[in-house]
Amino acid sequence: MTSEEKFKKVISHAKEYGFVFKSSEIYDGLSAVYDYGHNGTELKNNIKDYWWRAMVQLNDNIVGIDSSILMHPTIWKASGHVDAFNDPLIDNKDSKKRYRADVLIEDHISKLESKIQKEISKAEKRYGDKFEKDQFIKTNPRVLKNHEKIKVIYSKFSSALEKDDLIALKKIIEDLGIVCPVSGSKNWTEVKQFNLMFGTKLGASSDSATDLYLRPETAQGIFVNFLNVQKTSRLKIPFGIAQTGKAFRNEIVARQFIFRMREFEQMEMQFFIKPGTQKKWYENWKEQRMKWHLSLGLGKENYRFHDHDKLAHYADAACDIEFNFPFGFKELEGIHSRTDFDLSNHEKFSNKKLKYFDTQSNESYVPYVVETSIGLDRMFLAVFSNSLCEEKIEDGTSRIVLKFPVVLSPIKVAVLPLVKKDGLPEIAKDILEKLKREFRVNYDEKDAIGRRYRRQDALGTPYCVTVDHQSKEDNTFTLRDRDSMTQERLSIEDILKKIESTLSIKSWL
Ligand code: ATP
Repeated sequence: MTSEEKFKKVISHAKEYGFVFKSSEIYDGLSAVYDYGHNGTELKNNIKDYWWRAMVQLNDNIVGIDSSILMHPTIWKASGHVDAFNDPLIDNKDSKKRYRADVLIEDHISKLESKIQKEISKAEKRYGDKFEKDQFIKTNPRVLKNHEKIKVIYSKFSSALEKDDLIALKKIIEDLGIVCPVSGSKNWTEVKQFNLMFGTKLGASSDSATDLYLRPETAQGIFVNFLNVQKTSRLKIPFGIAQTGKAFRNEIVARQFIFRMREFEQMEMQFFIKPGTQKKWYENWKEQRMKWHLSLGLGKENYRFHDHDKLAHYADAACDIEFNFPFGFKELEGIHSRTDFDLSNHEKFSNKKLKYFDTQSNESYVPYVVETSIGLDRMFLAVFSNSLCEEKIEDGTSRIVLKFPVVLSPIKVAVLPLVKKDGLPEIAKDILEKLKREFRVNYDEKDAIGRRYRRQDALGTPYCVTVDHQSKEDNTFTLRDRDSMTQERLSIEDILKKIESTLSIKSWL
């Protein structure tokens, strides 16, 4: 299956099983806006909870808040978003399609990278056990040529981004002969800057209404509450404030399903530290966040760090954790050393002191900040696309299964009476009552048992408890495991214990 086919499967499965719908679908949808269905909402909540527990529950020095989406408009002046929250856009004159100039170049680089990867895979197949990958990469002329091309593009690209040189960006696109994927032409406009914030108004009358923005990141709600939280929590530096919530960006190109949305959710944590210690904390949070990702077992090979080519206006170091999505490695989370940029600017613009008094060193200072910022929807896509697979099974048929990390599965257990008679549904409903106090449970009595198992596989339900005739005699039930498809007979107490132990946060984080 090509990666494009795999991605189409992800989107259609998400719709068919109640995970993600296009927003306003009966009106033909709204571009890059999506709704989560009944199963999607459970998965999303579980991801959010997993993040919250790792951040807030397991760290004594991190607390969580929930700030508003609407904030004072000067905040966005102070944060630099009014002047600098831009993306470089370019239009194709023939297709009238709009693109992000930097993304066109990045996609071109990705194509060269996958050419290299193809050469390596071909050689791996040809030479089998004798294949020496490092040696091949160092000596194969085609690989070397493409590596050199990538190096040259990167150097021009980072220099153009560094200087905000839009003419140079256009020249790279022209020199590389990049064509519009829709019209196939190279008929490009100039590159322009485009501000990504959505504007709105506060107040009823049009004359007196104040211009506001929908927040493009949740972080500023944390910065402006920094002293409120510090004073009321009495936390001492170093400490963190975490928050999850909606953010809005008028993205130029909104493709790739829930990867790039105009309304999305972020999970951010700002860690306030003493100036001068930022390098240490930046490395610490890189490590912590990678650990969190790996704890879910989606495969170490699917993650990599990527240092930023161009640092944002607020950062002195920044990198992304990239994930291997169906369309290749792309940013999943950002880790940024934001210096004292935000707090100092809020001091300036608000005329209020945002200093911390350090009782140990007897001095006041504006703290530095290291932040971790992950898109909840991107994490959803990472988990969902990585978990979806089609498997051949022993009887020659195949099954579609969502192998979610158990702790994230929307439904933990399905209770199934083998047949819809002989008192089995009544027993199954009793069990349902017992289990639903502990986990999210589903009851299903329609269709043959095999079809019901398939249905639960497709929803990613890790366990099925089946009530059969023997259950009436000895009070035992079969517990079927989603991944191995093995079944064992257990009492309801043992079933409860077993599921509880696999869900315990101790075994994950
Ligand atoms: P990109 O380069 O992909 O536009 P970014 O660098 O602008 O992302 P940040 O400002 O660092 O993103 O935001 C932090 C996180 O928020 C990202 O790592 C991503 O997971 C998420 N995110 C950002 N923009 C979007 C979006 N339009 N839709 C969904 N998630 C997003």
